[in-house]
Amino acid sequence: MPGEPGKVAIVTGGSRGIGRAVVTRLAADGYDVGFCYRADERSAAAVEKEVRALGRACLAVRVDVGDGRRVKAFVERVEAELGVISAAVSSAGITRDNPLVLMSDEDWDAVLRANLDGVFHLARSVVFRMMKRRAGALVTVSSVAGITGNAAQANYAAAKAGVIAMTRSLAKEVGRYGIRVNAIAPGFIETDMTATLPDTVTTAMRGRIPLGRFGQADEVAAMVSVLVSEQASYVTGQVFRVDGGIVL
Ligand code: NAP
Repeated sequence: MPGEPGKVAIVTGGSRGIGRAVVTRLAADGYDVGFCYRADERSAAAVEKEVRALGRACLAVRVDVGDGRRVKAFVERVEAELGVISAAVSSAGITRDNPLVLMSDEDWDAVLRANLDGVFHLARSVVFRMMKRRAGALVTVSSVAGITGNAAQANYAAAKAGVIAMTRSLAKEVGRYGIRVNAIAPGFIETDMTATLPDTVTTAMRGRIPLGRFGQADEVAAMVSVLVSEQASYVTGQVFRVDGGIVL
């Protein structure tokens, strides 16, 4: 049974991992949710089902965030079918790790396009609409790699540092319109993205994390939930690490 009409959120990369946890958390918070994904239709359908089981409306659309025109059309479709977007979260992202001297143009471009251009595309379309209404919250998903750098991740770290700079710049631009823009920088979170790390790396990393474990996607989603809510009404331009204390 559908819930009360009201809040609408849009999430990129909502079919798996952190984005998926954000979609279901926001649905539990009372949002109808539109999300996009790149290719994994089966996972997207499962997330859609989960949101509907929570009594909220859901729209899952296959959109590559690297394509600005398609992201714009996605934003328009979410507003046409679900209603006015008050919360936006950019979680879509990929890694293509390699030492810099061995990194191909393709791996550089693909990572920058998905992780940095993708955030720009969502922000440009969504924030323009929020400006007209003088309300809204955007949360970008960066990474601790964007703060500290990481060997073999020059492409990813550059993109994630760019996301932080974009987030702060945008917060300065649109605060006067009542729009808040914040970034989350997760550390090591258990998702498909980290599932392929060799055991030697995960053991070494765990040893460096004060809380002694990798995080769960739900623990990142909990921070997103606060940041898009009225509880964070005086918070903008900030970067929140959800990393078990790995960066101290
Ligand atoms: P994940 O489990 O691999 O999921 C990635 C999600 O993004 C999937 O839904 C995927 O869609 C979607 N996606 C990827 N490229 C896309 C594109 N070009 N257009 C649209 N959707 C796209 O990754 P994750 O671990 O949840 O990561 C989510 C975000 O958190 C990323 O920005 C990542 O950089 C960041 N992060 C993750 C960690 C971590 O430890 N996991 C740490 C720091 C930051 P498909 O299902 O269709 O492929």
